[in-house]
Amino acid sequence: MPGKILQSRKRLIPIPIVFLLFSAASADIPLFDAHLHYNAEDAAAYSPGEIVALLKSNGVQGALVTSRPPDRVLSLQRRAPHLILPILGVYRTSAEKQTWMHDAGLPARVQRALGSGYWRGVGELHIFAGERRNPVFLQIVDLATARQLPLQMHADPAVIDALFEHAPEAKVLWAHAGAYPFPPLLRDYLERYPGLFIDLSVRDQRIAPDGELDPSWEWLLLEYSDRFLVGVDTYRTERWGAYAEVASQIRHWLAQLPEEVAEAIAHRNASRLFDRGADD
Ligand SMILES: [Zn+2]
Repeated sequence: MPGKILQSRKRLIPIPIVFLLFSAASADIPLFDAHLHYNAEDAAAYSPGEIVALLKSNGVQGALVTSRPPDRVLSLQRRAPHLILPILGVYRTSAEKQTWMHDAGLPARVQRALGSGYWRGVGELHIFAGERRNPVFLQIVDLATARQLPLQMHADPAVIDALFEHAPEAKVLWAHAGAYPFPPLLRDYLERYPGLFIDLSVRDQRIAPDGELDPSWEWLLLEYSDRFLVGVDTYRTERWGAYAEVASQIRHWLAQLPEEVAEAIAHRNASRLFDRGADD
């Protein structure tokens, strides 16, 4: 059992030495941030140059960024084409976060946008169980899946089931470890759907309460180390100001995992999912 192996290793090595080894490994582990927003209000506060500098100074080597309105992120992407992977948001206004699935014109707009070839995924889509068979939602699933683009989903488990029932070949990035971020539930979903990947943004306190990796999370991360991604999630403009602090929290719990698992979750899984070839 990997968890037990880790614990027994911890018992054999004096704690200060382990801490030093982990700190050295964690301080510079590159991150691929799988969950960022650069909305109009963020752009009013931070220029594309400032955001790119912030990401680079935090050792970020890749970033999935979505925006409202959808095109806003392209100004950021033009500034650092290799660093920023633009994800097609579907909200033009904040109100559309609640109403998008009732906009019959949306699939045509998404189709047109995807035709540009700029976009590396679609999302973040916020949707609850009651809307899981919504036709606008399922059309967007089809449009993304036809282009093998991942869908970034902020969604209940029932939505994930409906999505894969509709499009078994879909690729899904389940934001924030889902609406019910409990390891036994996530294990079931990872086992059931090979196209499912999980972004751990804003769950750092659950994964590592007060900084120490929770054993049930540790076990899950070891077991499915090829299916998790990390993210800061700049859901509010102030969150960009806290970027360095959150990135260091993420590195702190990553450092409690074996190095190859930490590297996979920190950046390799994202590079593979988004077809970036070797990390560079
Ligand atoms: Zn988000």
